[in-house]
Amino acid sequence: MEEPRVIEVSKLNPNFKYEVAKAPGGEGILKCFACGTCTASCPVRAINDKYNPRRIIHMVLLGMREEVLNSEFIWLCATCYACQERCPQGVRITDIMCALQNIAAREGKVHNLYRNQLKALADFGRLYEIDDYDNKKRRKKELPELISTGEEITKLIEKTHLSKYLSEMMSKDKKEEE
Ligand code: SF4
Ligand code: SF4
Repeated sequence: MEEPRVIEVSKLNPNFKYEVAKAPGGEGILKCFACGTCTASCPVRAINDKYNPRRIIHMVLLGMREEVLNSEFIWLCATCYACQERCPQGVRITDIMCALQNIAAREGKVHNLYRNQLKALADFGRLYEIDDYDNKKRRKKELPELISTGEEITKLIEKTHLSKYLSEMMSKDKKEEE
């Protein structure tokens, strides 16, 4: 059983729920009555009992902005929509998880896993570097060789302003390493 935690009221941000409610899909958050159907439906919760969508919604409603945006849990949602389909209050929980990720990303708080994926996309146009081993296997099967599409993806990343986030994240990482 988890240790009870003390919530410091002075660190709460009562406007956080309104900030989330304004994001696309976030508007229903104020209707949550904490029934727990979302948590009971969640496949991620089934394998990781620390992940709890009802708790994340509750933390947002309480105003625990920093804790939520710095939490790795907002990045664990598998966007399966099971919770959203079943919520009796019509809370768009999956969309709220995306909204939280977007708010966190705008503040440079992106889970390492996603940072690395974004960097790989920018560098190789794929989530992994293509090496000769991959192409050797494809040549054997007479399949066309894989090519890096890094340049095209880099253009897309620039157009969507992701490059700004990426360079900010990389310089933040560099500073932390120094
Ligand atoms: S299912 Fe809906 S109402 Fe119930 S706890 Fe989850 S978000 Fe709140
Ligand atoms: S959408 Fe996310 S929070 Fe909802 S049930 Fe699926 S994994 Fe869980």
